[in-house]
Amino acid sequence: MRRAICVGCGACVALDASGRSAMERTATGPKPVFAPGTALPELAWDACPGKGIDYPQLYLDHYGRMPDSWLVGHIVATRTGYAGDPSVRARGASGGVTTAVLLHLLQSGRIDAAIVARQGVPAPLEASPVIASTAEEILDAAQSVYIPVAMLDILSRLEPGKRYAITLVPEQAAALRRLQHSGHPQAQQIDYVLGPYTGTALYPAAIDSFVRAHGVAKSDPVTSLEWRAGEWPGYLEIKTQSGKVLRSKKVYYNFLIPFFVTRASLQSMDFANEFCDLSVGDAWSPAFEAQGGGHSVVVTRSAKMEALVEEMIAAGALVLEREDDLKATEMHGHMIDFKKRGGFIRNQWRRKIGLAAPDYGMEPATIPPSRKIAELVISTLFVIGSTAPARFVLRQIPESVIGPVFNKLRLSWKKASKPTKRKGLADFRMIVDEE
Ligand SMILES: Cc1cc2nc3c(=O)[nH]c(=O)nc-3n(C[C@H](O)[C@H](O)[C@H](O)COP(=O)(O)OP(=O)(O)OC[C@H]3O[C@@H](n4cnc5c(N)ncnc54)[C@H](O)[C@@H]3O)c2cc1C
Ligand code: SF4
Repeated sequence: MRRAICVGCGACVALDASGRSAMERTATGPKPVFAPGTALPELAWDACPGKGIDYPQLYLDHYGRMPDSWLVGHIVATRTGYAGDPSVRARGASGGVTTAVLLHLLQSGRIDAAIVARQGVPAPLEASPVIASTAEEILDAAQSVYIPVAMLDILSRLEPGKRYAITLVPEQAAALRRLQHSGHPQAQQIDYVLGPYTGTALYPAAIDSFVRAHGVAKSDPVTSLEWRAGEWPGYLEIKTQSGKVLRSKKVYYNFLIPFFVTRASLQSMDFANEFCDLSVGDAWSPAFEAQGGGHSVVVTRSAKMEALVEEMIAAGALVLEREDDLKATEMHGHMIDFKKRGGFIRNQWRRKIGLAAPDYGMEPATIPPSRKIAELVISTLFVIGSTAPARFVLRQIPESVIGPVFNKLRLSWKKASKPTKRKGLADFRMIVDEE
């Protein structure tokens, strides 16, 4: 395993039978550290999302066929809505649907516990997977965690005989399915996989930069951090020991993305979390945004999850309306393109200059030249943003200035590049690489 390819999922550490390996926290997220002489099984390589998982093979193994939609994967049903319990809805990142489903799984006895990501464990600026076996613990883990979390590391700590649900980002969900289909016993204890639509995550250094830019001294440590506090779409809220409270609207702290976006975000070609039983994203639409309160787009991908969601709708635990599958993709056209075409172009360019990049065993059938030009602009911004001088300059600009300015620039770029980015998206398809 080479760190250059690692996206910090934790699967290889869980597969070390000696139990001497561990995930280590670094400025670029969790990375595995192997004890000298560690011998990992071949499966650790097959399931490593950093080197890339063979998606066409996994579609066949898991769904028995190639996806219905090359944009968002296999779909049983697409809906929009929110959790029926207003307090669950208010605590969730978008509509609280993920938390509501986890609670229902636990309370109906279908699982013994849910494995969730929790910001603040073991320290306020860190995040870890936790095994939540009570409703309170599931509720405490609501919201999105936008830094990398080594979720699969926890597989080695599952109790024999117990059944679990888990929340995973796309590359981790694919890795888990690879393990399940290869007969890995702990992976097979997981009966339900839920996960967010995943655009971009940030390196942990983003928080330090944000806090310093707000004039917080190193001697005044952060005591709590919430990524999506308050009313949807929410704001980043950071509290420090001296009592300072920093708040930044979600649309404003997006300015951290070009400076601290993770390599995994740039390399993944899966936005809609295609190997989950339930994938959930923000339902961005002018109508929902005007209503407020929190709205999710919710995709079921397995018959058992669909049955569960129908049961919850009937009981009033979820308030969801059916949507047309293709129409619903319009809410996230920009990010779908960022992953499906952008991810492929970036990986191809990385390989051309001798850098490691994952191979997913498939490629877009066509990419218009104008899309490659747009990618040149985006990638140049990311390369410049990731340098130390650019991050230094960022720390000097007050967030009250850069937040709104970046948001305006982002919206203008989105508008200008929309024709290029949406062109050909409706008929988008992948071709499977031949060995
Ligand atoms: C890194 C990241 C990027 C995202 N990008 C987009 C985007 O571009 N567009 C979009 O529409 N939506 C995006 N989302 C999804 C969105 O933020 C919400 O997570 C989603 O809508 C689910 O909302 P909810 O109210 O159902 O979740 P909640 O009810 O709040 O439950 C969320 C559950 O997911 C778990 N969880 C949170 N973060 C992680 C994580 N990093 N790894 C594993 N489990 C986690 C929590 O522990 C909790 O159990 C992203 C989420 C993440 C984590
Ligand atoms: S991506 Fe996951 S499996 Fe691959 S090296 Fe990193 S932690 Fe290990």
